[in-house]
Amino acid sequence: MLEEMGLTPIWRLREDSTVVEPPPAAADAATYHPPSTIHHPPQPATGDRRGEIMRLEWKGLKARVAGCTDCPLHANRNKAVFGVGDENADWLFVGEGPGADEDAQGEPFVGQAGKLLDSMLAAIKLKRGANVYIANVVKCRPPGNRNPESAEALACEPYLHRQIDLIRPKLIVALGKVAAANLLASDASVASMRGKVHDYRGTPLIVTYHPAYLLRTLQDKAKAWADLCFAVRTMEGLHGGEAAVAEKA
Ligand code: SF4
Repeated sequence: MLEEMGLTPIWRLREDSTVVEPPPAAADAATYHPPSTIHHPPQPATGDRRGEIMRLEWKGLKARVAGCTDCPLHANRNKAVFGVGDENADWLFVGEGPGADEDAQGEPFVGQAGKLLDSMLAAIKLKRGANVYIANVVKCRPPGNRNPESAEALACEPYLHRQIDLIRPKLIVALGKVAAANLLASDASVASMRGKVHDYRGTPLIVTYHPAYLLRTLQDKAKAWADLCFAVRTMEGLHGGEAAVAEKA
């Protein structure tokens, strides 16, 4: 697993920060408090559609996505990729959108990037489907694996919003620029957003690199590892009761 990450033998989940230094803001991990003013991402103008989606439960939401034709991305999809995992997960990982493999299989992160994500999860003792949910900003594959356009991401945003409301994760990990930009309504770089605990509607969120990017940019795998360690410490801080995040009922 660590060999796959290109970091063996130095990847170790431990307190010793001499291996890979965490980002400078890592000390904030246990001190997250939801902001009194939450800055919501921009909302689609179609209020009725949004309201309808926000009232759906899992079954209806999955069916709505499977048959969705609400943006141009539906035209070339094979399968809409709803998301996968534990619907009561503490951990939510959010990527960009389906690629060719995901479009064919209807599951997120099943290609090479998916293998790397699974290795990343294993490195912090997590496993797909076990207290982990994986979703994307857009549910249908953008042609040629281009980034989703803002109108497409905006059209699909209520689905992810509703998924997050239903899952009620304790921590969201945004994988890459597109996920971070859409969840945080920010145009900042991943480099500038990592190492901090952000907020998505009252849920702490951290940013790291997308596995597909890491496959192309091996030198940033160490940074991704530091981000995962930061995420673990942030989650531990939440479990320690330091953060004012409401417990699940
Ligand atoms: S990307 Fe989202 S909004 Fe667009 S057609 Fe697919 S499910 Fe619908």
